[in-house]
Amino acid sequence: MDEKKLQNIFYNTSYGKKILKCIQCGTCSASCPLTGLMEHGPRELFALIRDGDMELALRSETPWYCVSCYQCVVRCPQEIPVIDLMYCLKRMSREYDMVPVSHKIPDLYRAFSQAVDHHGRISEAMVMANYGILHPVDAFKNISMALELLKRKRLEFFPRQIIGRRWVAQLPAGEKVRKNT
Ligand code: SF4
Ligand code: SF4
Repeated sequence: MDEKKLQNIFYNTSYGKKILKCIQCGTCSASCPLTGLMEHGPRELFALIRDGDMELALRSETPWYCVSCYQCVVRCPQEIPVIDLMYCLKRMSREYDMVPVSHKIPDLYRAFSQAVDHHGRISEAMVMANYGILHPVDAFKNISMALELLKRKRLEFFPRQIIGRRWVAQLPAGEKVRKNT
């Protein structure tokens, strides 16, 4: 798909056109605690989108590092919903098969979604198991923490299911993330 079409799709999402109000002041990037890990800060990411460099924006690791801390949102002079835009980029990069392959966070998101699809709610044990299948070394490193949590009854080994789990499983991914946060 050409980049112009991807840009239009992005603009036509719920919050897409909000980045047209961005004045490129850089307050978001300066406020972000994860900027040091991101290949482009939020300001630069929005500039890429406005320039039509959609493939670069959708393949960027930046949205996957965002932890929804709201530092950028509360400081943006243009009240741009940075977090919603980050979620939008993540959804689009999954939909158009542009998830950065070297990044582990998309696998964690997938593990989270699988747990919610099965049980209608988050289950730490299942998230750890689903993620651990893909990244056994990481799982192994966290075993002592998991055992400690189990000992303190802070981790359910057998997850409980909610009554409406089939309804939750049918929700689009974006809605599901919002309803579980
Ligand atoms: S703080 Fe807001 S206006 Fe400034 S660069 Fe970031 S998104 Fe744009
Ligand atoms: S919400 Fe995301 S982009 Fe904004 S400051 Fe926090 S981590 Fe950075």
